[in-house]
Amino acid sequence: MSTPALKIYNTLTRTKEEFRPIDPAQVRMYVCGPTVYDYAHIGNARPLIVFDVLFRLLRHLAKQGVWDGGKGETKVTYVRNITDVDDKINARAFERGISIRELTDQTIDIFHEDVRALGCLNPTIEPRATDYIRNDDKQIDMVRLIQRLLDSGHAYAADGHVLFDVTSMPSYGRLSRRSLDEMIAGARVDVAPYKRGDMDFVLWKPSKDDEPGWQSPWGRGRPGWHIECSAMSAAHLGETFDIHGGGIDLVFPHHENEIAQSCCAFGRDVMANYWMHNGFLQVEGEKMSKSLGNFVTIHELLHTEKFGGRKWPGEVLRLAMLRTHYRQPIDWTVKALEEAETNLTRLLERVGDATATVISPEVVQALLDDLNTPLALSKLHSVRDPSILAGSLRIFGLPAKRYVLRAEPGAFTLQGQEIEMRIFARNAARASKNWAESDRIRDELAAMGIALKDNKDGTTTWEVKR
Ligand code: AMP
Ligand code: ZN
Repeated sequence: MSTPALKIYNTLTRTKEEFRPIDPAQVRMYVCGPTVYDYAHIGNARPLIVFDVLFRLLRHLAKQGVWDGGKGETKVTYVRNITDVDDKINARAFERGISIRELTDQTIDIFHEDVRALGCLNPTIEPRATDYIRNDDKQIDMVRLIQRLLDSGHAYAADGHVLFDVTSMPSYGRLSRRSLDEMIAGARVDVAPYKRGDMDFVLWKPSKDDEPGWQSPWGRGRPGWHIECSAMSAAHLGETFDIHGGGIDLVFPHHENEIAQSCCAFGRDVMANYWMHNGFLQVEGEKMSKSLGNFVTIHELLHTEKFGGRKWPGEVLRLAMLRTHYRQPIDWTVKALEEAETNLTRLLERVGDATATVISPEVVQALLDDLNTPLALSKLHSVRDPSILAGSLRIFGLPAKRYVLRAEPGAFTLQGQEIEMRIFARNAARASKNWAESDRIRDELAAMGIALKDNKDGTTTWEVKR
């Protein structure tokens, strides 16, 4: 049986298109990663989760041999960078009186804990921008990329800066569908004496003595943000690759500028064939963001009791996000987390102690339609076989075993069946009015983070408390 094709919505063409990799031996995907100056917020968690599900789906399809005529040998390379050079990083490190390296190392450690708790697989490669400013081991780095743009007349140096000349690229604005005139009329751009045109953007800028800087042909300085991704993607995926992703806010200017840099430096029409963007996580209709101050960090959701008076497992946030299609906005509420948790608990009860086998074809089918996770999740209702249900949960990155839902390692080691057996023993004790024994079992389970609830109809249900 042949698997039908994966279709993805391409921001470049504003249509759903069938996905075909350039090289059937390797699918190549790049997703813009975090700027590491502070804790990531749960809005930042959205692209992490969405593109993790896509990565899992691509790997599944690769194994099925959908692109290499059934051989199943296609590699999937997922690059997600870390931006560890940025003016916000400089400012924060200065405030805290530590070096930028200390700040970014600490923040990266926390970021890794967060993504692990969210159930994300490690990307294949996680390049750090500072390693690619100059990198003799690679064909390409930021300084050489900028030099190419200068040599080909797409950039100019002025006052220690290097700028990209947007008028040198006729198709500039294609991704975001704006013309230069509109941009100039509508934009809040930095007007600077060294710029030839208002929309020209920085590739390189000079550093003061007390600012971090790297030697370059244009003096000691540091790269602009956009050039980082052009260099890191080319270094690992080549001049043209398959999928480029990120949040919708990155379409302009970040992705537009990445395209301009990469296409002009390499003399190509295409940087990536498919551009995918997730919608916002919102708070009262506004994008959750650091600058608006309306954010919840992943870390505080996992480790504090600020939200609904309790901690929340990463898997619950993950499911809460996947219940909405990735291109739609999501409103952030504690209620959505509660609903996701109930949903997940029920699913895991149905899995019981079954071992994952295959994925339900209906689940895959729904995901093939531009990653329709809400539809795919609804298909789980009709998966009767617990081991297929367990197998299907994996493609969403959800745990297939109830005990995975535990807070700290070692805090909860019982599996579903054993808990049910203790509840059975407790019911027996209650029936014989042995209250001491009944309380002992309740307390023992509570100590492991399992809360019992005695229902009106005489049954007892349990849930994992964190
Ligand atoms: P940043 O660290 O701000 O560059 O953001 C990292 C990633 O998170 C980018 O892909 C952004 O587009 C994405 N992002 C930021 N805020 C939100 C939000 N409120 N909802 C969804 N994605 C977001
Ligand atoms: Zn980027």
